[in-house]
This record gives sequence, structure tokens and C-alpha cells, in this order.
Amino acid sequence: MNKHDVMSKVIDTLNCKCPNCKDGKIFKDSGNIFLLKIPKMNDRCLVCDYKFERETGFFFGAMFVSYALAVAQMITCLVVFWSLIDFSPLRVFFIIVAMAFLLSTLNFKLSRSIWIYLFYKAKA
Ligand SMILES: [Zn+2]
Repeated sequence: MNKHDVMSKVIDTLNCKCPNCKDGKIFKDSGNIFLLKIPKMNDRCLVCDYKFERETGFFFGAMFVSYALAVAQMITCLVVFWSLIDFSPLRVFFIIVAMAFLLSTLNFKLSRSIWIYLFYKAKA
């Protein structure tokens, strides 16, 4: 796999595209955190009929990815607002809480997309 393939794979993952045809979308909608709506998935790719949930409970593991994403974002936030901008700890805390809230639907989508790509094996 060359560099270009890795990059396009990363971009497809971030865009939540079907790993099989790179065309269909994994999610029906993006959800809305302010209405506490989580994003809805398509069961199968609308373009190539690839089944996203490979087995029951397949997405259980995506929770760990989501957790890792959240921790990475919190650490980034902490470094930026505390170390670089020198906000007070309380202010940093509220920024982190707000950010975790705002990014939760994104993390939900990204973690599942990453999970799907991790276990996707192209048929040769
Ligand atoms: Zn597809």
C-alpha cells in the first residue's frame, strides 16, 4: 500500500464513506447534538449493498475508538487552552466539557467509520 492509498483511505474514513465502493454513505444523517439526536446509520450501503454491521454487537468495539478520540481531543484542548493560552483551570474545564458535548455526534460517526475500516478487507 503506497502513501496515496493511505491518504485516500484516511479521507474516506473521515468522510464516513462505504469502505467497499467508496461512494455510498455510512450514515443517513448527521444527528443533532442540540436535539440529543445521534446519527443514524444505513444498515447496508445504498450503492453496493455492503453490510456495515458485520455481526450483532460489531459496533461495541467502536466505543473504545470513541473513547480514544474523546481523550485525544481533551488532551489537545488542555494543551492549547492551558499551556499555550494560559486560561484558568476552571475555564479550561468548561471548554473541555462544552467541546466533548459538541463533538459527541462527530465522535460517534468517526468511531464507527474507523471501526468499519479497521475490519474491512477488500475482496481481491
Ligand atoms: Zn458501498
